[in-house]
Amino acid sequence: MDPNGKKLVLEGFAQAFGDTEGVRCFFAPGRVNLIGEHTDYNGGHVFPCALDIGCFAAVRKREDRVMRFYSVNFPQAGTVTTSLDALVPQSRSGWTNYPAGVVWAFGTHGCEPDVGFDMAIYGDIPNGSGLSSSAALEVVTGTALRALYGWDKVTNVDIALLGQLAENEYNGMKCGIMDQFASAMGKAGNAIFLDTNTMEYAYAPVHLEGMKLMIVNTNRKHSLVDSEYNLRREQCAAALADLQKELPVKTLGDLTEEEFEAHKDLITDPVCLRRARHAVYENRRTIEAVAALRRGDIEEFGRLMNASHVSLRDDYETSCPEADILTEEAWKIPGVLGSRITGGGFGGCTVSIVKDEAVDTFVETLDRVYREKVGYPATFYRLGIGDGPTEI
Ligand code: ADP
Ligand code: MG
Repeated sequence: MDPNGKKLVLEGFAQAFGDTEGVRCFFAPGRVNLIGEHTDYNGGHVFPCALDIGCFAAVRKREDRVMRFYSVNFPQAGTVTTSLDALVPQSRSGWTNYPAGVVWAFGTHGCEPDVGFDMAIYGDIPNGSGLSSSAALEVVTGTALRALYGWDKVTNVDIALLGQLAENEYNGMKCGIMDQFASAMGKAGNAIFLDTNTMEYAYAPVHLEGMKLMIVNTNRKHSLVDSEYNLRREQCAAALADLQKELPVKTLGDLTEEEFEAHKDLITDPVCLRRARHAVYENRRTIEAVAALRRGDIEEFGRLMNASHVSLRDDYETSCPEADILTEEAWKIPGVLGSRITGGGFGGCTVSIVKDEAVDTFVETLDRVYREKVGYPATFYRLGIGDGPTEI
């Protein structure tokens, strides 16, 4: 966690709202998904981990029903003022629809604040890069609301679900549960093996002795992601409906590869068939990858990461040329065990497992090739696996 984060968010609070007396500060992490992409709304498994970067919030209750928001990252938006009596999404409200949406989502579950609050935000996750700055913002808001209003019965899983509800219904982004769950339930040194069908989860230690988890940002913002993402959801739902004509399955995550191959001709649309094939195979890859990690077979884990990328590139079509360049170059480097696009896609970041002795070559080669082919630089991060949300 950025040791300066608290100071920066308090400075932002003071600048926007005058002083910091009685202010409480909170942090929630971003996340990177190691494998299991676009499976979380298909009843499949995911395997993300929380990062040691995230979103900081400084919050103080008010005496009236006003809510005021300020982000150090979006100073041009100024201080946005709204009210507990005006909880409807507004396009002009910009980023504040995320925290306001969380307040709305809590309200739909009987947690209605009696008074409003002032909130300043500072985040060190690159926005729109597939590392879930939006989920971190939602989870830090939920964590702050629980503490401020004394809603002690609200669990971290509730915070994740309410964050997802806010993103789905208030912000129109039909994401699955992975991002909010990974942020709300993060555990240092561990990834989370979550079955999105049952919400059962288990922590799996990520021992990377002699290796690094490298995250490379294409610096291409995933601008189309909302509409394309929602379209993928619809295509998977259409494929599932076709399969259900003969198969008693509830989700694509219920199918093995063999069952899928035996019944795939039921899917009438060829594009939907490819989308479903990704969802089924990616789910099975995720289960295998976690088993490989648990027996210490990182090489197999890496191979499955590579296969995940190929499937996202060819079947699910949520990669982009920039991420393809980064992964395909990485695969050529000895000592790179696995590399794939991570997050919703259409830009954002790749995640790679790289042996220590290959890290310099990885950075130098990718930096050079990316500049040559894309025309602007990528950004390289060596991040750690951090804990979930906390008061700081
Ligand atoms: P990702 O979650 O992959 O980073 P999204 O497009 O889902 O990308 O979410 C990014 C949006 O979340 C930003 O455009 C902004 O509206 C909001 N957001 C994230 N972090 C902050 C922050 N620190 N301050 C204000 N808004 C933020
Ligand atoms: Mg997001």
